[in-house]
Order: sequence, then structure tokens, then C-alpha cells
Amino acid sequence: MRKRVLITGAAGFLGSHLCDRFIKEGFHVMGIDNLITGSLENIEHLFKLEQFEFYHHDVTKFVHVPGNLDYILHFASPASPIDYLKIPIQTLKVGSLGTHNLLGLAKEKNARILIASTSEVYGDPLVHPQTEDYFGNVNTIGPRGVYDEAKRFQESITMAYHRFHGLETRIVRIFNTYGPRMRLNDGRVIPAFMGQALRGEDLTIFGDGLQTRSFCYVDDQIEGIYRLLMSDYALPVNIGNDDEITIKEFAEEIIKLTGTDQKIVYKELPIDDPMQRKPDISLAKKILGWEAKVSRSEGMKRTYAYFKSLTKEQLHKSEHKDFSKHIVK
Ligand code: UDP
Repeated sequence: MRKRVLITGAAGFLGSHLCDRFIKEGFHVMGIDNLITGSLENIEHLFKLEQFEFYHHDVTKFVHVPGNLDYILHFASPASPIDYLKIPIQTLKVGSLGTHNLLGLAKEKNARILIASTSEVYGDPLVHPQTEDYFGNVNTIGPRGVYDEAKRFQESITMAYHRFHGLETRIVRIFNTYGPRMRLNDGRVIPAFMGQALRGEDLTIFGDGLQTRSFCYVDDQIEGIYRLLMSDYALPVNIGNDDEITIKEFAEEIIKLTGTDQKIVYKELPIDDPMQRKPDISLAKKILGWEAKVSRSEGMKRTYAYFKSLTKEQLHKSEHKDFSKHIVK
């Protein structure tokens, strides 16, 4: 009998890579997505497999799946600042109500559940690099608050289910992750720069570009998540690459990689944009024997190959996705 796993956000960037990984590991995979920000193109190749099922469903509504379940991975959520601005209520609901529903399902099925949390729980951090025991510096009412606070609530309710109901829970704090299948128009820095370079537009840096990020290639991220799920560690664990770079240096690397002769232009820094971010991954190293393996130059080469393979039409559909038709009041 195959082990059975439910993955929410299955048509999204990380969700679809998780589906691939669990199929490869011999699981029966059930994917759920409401397709607000996800795209079926990311999982099209799995539909022919009998060990894959897909449910078009919004996890903020009651979730039921037939049969037994061994694992649940909750990866449904908008994950870019532009998306939070467009769908703030849905962002709050999927992290709170959605998580509650999935914890309930995990309890009902006696399944182990892993929750996708984020470095955003640290907000604009005053501690650098960020260790798991840092409580964060988050603006609850700013534009990013809908994501940050939903994720913080998500961690609380997950620990409550763990402590009160004895549920087997895992919490991964995901730092900036990139790779093939990122949505070109999601507003995040890597698809933004890639799209601009490929369309022959100037690269837009927000602020002075001295803010830092640490970018993790998707294969490394998925490996870390997989190991955490299979571990016996219930407290949050940072998974990310600790190779830190300023956004300005990063833009210069992308100009070199793509060979574009466009220049850099500067735009206003979005509200509450964190000035620095880099995971302390000592805990992941210690308990999972995990660290990122793929260098930024290698990861960006693979990512560029993906964006280059998109059609002209996809590349020029640069306006943000219209979410309004999906929104259920
Ligand atoms: N950023 C930028 N130009 C863009 C998009 C983003 O300079 O076209 C900056 C953004 O302000 C932030 C960094 O790049 O400082 C990473 O942004 P992203 O949205 O990818 O992730 P997050 O802020 O959540 O780390």
C-alpha cells in the first residue's frame, strides 16, 4: 500500500514541486488548490498518473478527502507582497481558517501535518541572522501584516493542536526560495528581474537596493521540507540558503547572466520591506543534517532556462493576474 499525502496549494510554486517529490518517493498524492494564484500548468504532467488526484477546492471551507491519510502539507497561500495587496482577506483566511480546517482533518485522519510558515514571522528583523528563537518585529497593521500575522497565528494554532491534542505537527519557516514555476507576474524580485531582462525592459530596484535577501534554490528547499516532515521535531525550523546578497548586487548578477543591455532604475521602497534577511540554519544542520547545496549561480542558470522557455505571449502578459473572478465572499 502506498502512503497517502495531501498537499494544499498543489498548483503553486512550492506545492507543485512537493507533488513531484512525493510522487517520486512512491506516495499517493492528493493535491488541493483553489487556483487563485496557482496554475494547473504546474501539475499538468501529473494528471495522467493514477497515484495523483486533484481537488479544485478552497481550504478555507470545510475540507474532506476520502480514505486514510498519512501526511498533510499545508502550502496554500498567496506568497508575494503584490498578492497580499490584491487579496488581503483571502491571505488572512487561508493562513488562519484554512490551517484550522487542515489541523482538524489531520486530527480526524490521525495524520502528521507540516505547516508552511515563513521568514516573514520575523518581520523586519532586529536580530541577524535570524534564529528560530527570535520573536520578530512585525507591523500587524501594515500591508504585509495580513500575511505575517496569518502565518504567526498559523504557528500558534499548530502548536496548540500539538500540545492540546497531541497531534504530530511540523513547522517549516521558509526563507526566499526560487526556481522554475515561479509565477512570472507575481511581483517577486526574481520573476520581476527575469521578465524585465527577457522583455528588454530596465530592471526595477525598490529603494536603494542595499536591502539584503538570501535566496534558496527550490530543490534544496524541497529536500529540507521532506527531511523535516520525516523528522520527529515539532518546533519551527528555518529552511533557506544563508548566502546573503544585496538586491543591487543581485540585479547586477542578473544583468550578467542574461546578457541584457538594460540598466537599473530605482523605484520607491514598499512599506515594511525588510532591510535584511538571512536564515541561521544551525538547527536544520543539527537535526536534519540539511544545508543548501545549489549555489546561486547554478540555481539562477536553471531558473533563467525556465523563464527563457516561456512563450512570447506568457512573457508579455505582464499585468498582474485578475483575481476578482475567484473571490468568494
Ligand atoms: N524588489 C525589487 N524590485 C522588484 C521586486 C522586488 O527591488 O521588481 C525587492 C523588494 O523590495 C525586496 C526584495 O526585492 O526588498 C525581495 O522582494 P520579494 O518580493 O521577492 O520578496 P520579500 O520582500 O518577501 O523577501
